[in-house]
Amino acid sequence: MNNAILSERDTRVLWHPCTQMHDHENFPIIPIKSGQGVWLEDFDGNRYLDGISSWWVNLFGHSNPIINAALKQQVDALEHVIFAGFTHEAAVELAEKLVAVTPAGLSRCFYADNGSAAVEVALKMSFHYWQNQGQTQKTKFVTLQNSYHGETLGALAVGDVALYKKTYAPLLMDVITAPSPDCYFRESGETWEDYSTRQFAHFEEMLAENANEICAVIVEPLVQCAGGMRMYDAIYLKLLRVACDKFNVHLIADEIAVGFGRTGTLFACEQAEISPDFLCLSKGLTGGYLPLSAVLTTDDIYTAFYDDYSKLTAFLHSHSYTGNALACRAALATLSIFETQNVIQKNHILSAKMAVLSQRFLTHPNVAEVRQTGMILAIELVKNKITREPYPWQERRGLQIHRYALSKGVLLRPLGNVIYFMPPYVIAIDELTLMFDVAWQAITRVY
Ligand SMILES: *Cc1c(COP(=O)(O)O)cnc(C)c1O
Repeated sequence: MNNAILSERDTRVLWHPCTQMHDHENFPIIPIKSGQGVWLEDFDGNRYLDGISSWWVNLFGHSNPIINAALKQQVDALEHVIFAGFTHEAAVELAEKLVAVTPAGLSRCFYADNGSAAVEVALKMSFHYWQNQGQTQKTKFVTLQNSYHGETLGALAVGDVALYKKTYAPLLMDVITAPSPDCYFRESGETWEDYSTRQFAHFEEMLAENANEICAVIVEPLVQCAGGMRMYDAIYLKLLRVACDKFNVHLIADEIAVGFGRTGTLFACEQAEISPDFLCLSKGLTGGYLPLSAVLTTDDIYTAFYDDYSKLTAFLHSHSYTGNALACRAALATLSIFETQNVIQKNHILSAKMAVLSQRFLTHPNVAEVRQTGMILAIELVKNKITREPYPWQERRGLQIHRYALSKGVLLRPLGNVIYFMPPYVIAIDELTLMFDVAWQAITRVY
């Protein structure tokens, strides 16, 4: 087998996600044969440093020996069992662990099988909670500008990235969209904290006016990832928690991308010292091995559904692969690495190194901002550094960066004009250096 044969067979029968398939007439898709640590290898023997953790899912490298071993054991015992009426050891143990490590007050774990499904679950649970409480006028959700929560219709409706949403607008429920705390737009000299606080004032006004019909507010804590790795201060989450309590509205924290150590703490909410009413987890949950998601929630929410069957208050949502045993086992192995290997501490060293390596980008005439939250570092490229006018999207400069970096053995996948780094936590310092060097070369070539 080689790259050419497999990519040719691929394009005859496959349809890839987030892709204009026509692009592959000129740039063949890359077939990966194996992965080891931060490296992916194709069928022609080329290697690529996975600088984006394979779409933000991988935490401890490809083919991680601890997760591999756990899966091999699990597969011989139980691969999967219906999760209604039945349970299994890995699902129970994982729920116990998640309840223990997530912010205080989250005491119940509901499984689903991907991030979007977790968001759907949280939305439905919140809405249904208010129905069960007799507050039937509460039917609306609030989202922040530029947020992303997945691509199924409910999740898409509470997101705000036009590229994914606009086409489907007629199919989507109405939501209230509040101004974003995104600190890219702060005034010069204004701190992140000041800007995020200022933006919150708009939010509170809106909430005060509409709280009576609002079920919940959904946010990506600290970093709006798919929206271009836009970042904001933890103060916003603190204020949000207070306001949600005051106006009797749920807070849904979508930590699907930022959970599990990405922002410098195990969960981003910790930096604001808050507990949400719903916490959505997926992506890194299984270390990037298998699709699994979890929605953590409180006793209060759980109890509102708990009654005699005849009251018809149960949460009947289900997915066939709910609580899959292999996926739960991979997640347990992932959590065991956090427990035993001092990951958060080591990540602080890695993110400090990333900060140092990114310094030179600030001098580039087309770089408007270099921003970082923990193990996420983003570089905003613009046409005009003073006015911050972006390059027209039609020029697809990010795509050129992607292709150049690939030719040098680094996988980067810019979001429009935002180049970002989101490597697995097992990356070595010389690999970090390589990643930033190649990005620098790519930028100086393409811009
Ligand atoms: C990726 C992502 C989702 C959707 O997860 P999928 O598993 O891709 O459906 C939801 N919310 C956030 C913040 C994400 O980054």
